[in-house]
Amino acid sequence: MDEANGAGQAGPLGQSRPIDVVSLYPKDMNIYGDWGNVLTIRRRLKLYGYEPRIHTYNQGDPWPEQVDMVLGGGGQDSGQEKISDDFFKRADTLRALVADDVPMLMICGMYQLFGEYFETIDGTRLDGIGVFGVYTEGREQRMIGNLVEHSDQFGDIIGYENHSGQTFLRDGVEPLGHVEGEGRGNNGEDGTEGARVHNVIGTYMHGSLLPKNPKISDFLIAAAATRRYGEFRPWQEEGQKAELARIDETAANARRVAASRPR
Ligand code: GLN
Repeated sequence: MDEANGAGQAGPLGQSRPIDVVSLYPKDMNIYGDWGNVLTIRRRLKLYGYEPRIHTYNQGDPWPEQVDMVLGGGGQDSGQEKISDDFFKRADTLRALVADDVPMLMICGMYQLFGEYFETIDGTRLDGIGVFGVYTEGREQRMIGNLVEHSDQFGDIIGYENHSGQTFLRDGVEPLGHVEGEGRGNNGEDGTEGARVHNVIGTYMHGSLLPKNPKISDFLIAAAATRRYGEFRPWQEEGQKAELARIDETAANARRVAASRPR
């Protein structure tokens, strides 16, 4: 620590403050633009003065030593089946990271596998790792379209859903938000969408989600930085501040357009 920089500060501008981000199964679980979530976190981390280290983890890869955030995407039922064995080998590690408050974002197919199980439309049962007290059953009718939901913490969350699985929350499980308008959300019946536990967010929102929802990006980043460095303290020069403001303005425009589009 550089004392001249003031108590509690980790160092001067330019000093490296890595944040290690795991992208979970990007080969098989990455559809409807979910990779955009990784790009968004990488860009925003840099603009806040952190050093993003992205670790892509696919089946059979070594697990990274340091993990500050985990991002998982959606996938076809076949992609979910493909990763299943390897996923179970990592289940204890992932559950320990969840309990240790590592922030995570799990979209659609990975959200389902972070639940108790997903029974696909053809009757195949894929067990999940039980981070969320939710279960999912495949149905004939896919739920497809733009989606707006409201969360007290994040305000309006805007994205796009495309799933055959209907997810049901066990009693007491907190949803990410409540669907507004014609969105279907977890199951098209109870108005809930997604789930929360510790610092983990599960959701059906593709889009990509994070470019259009900077509040969720910043929640994940702040949680990761606080856990690793004791605080979330942006180090920004004027150029970085201006760039972030420009990105947030673009996000605001994208949100307006997406929210106004019919399903
Ligand atoms: N295969 C799952 C379903 O259809 C997940 C789809 C997705 O990730 N978009 O429900």
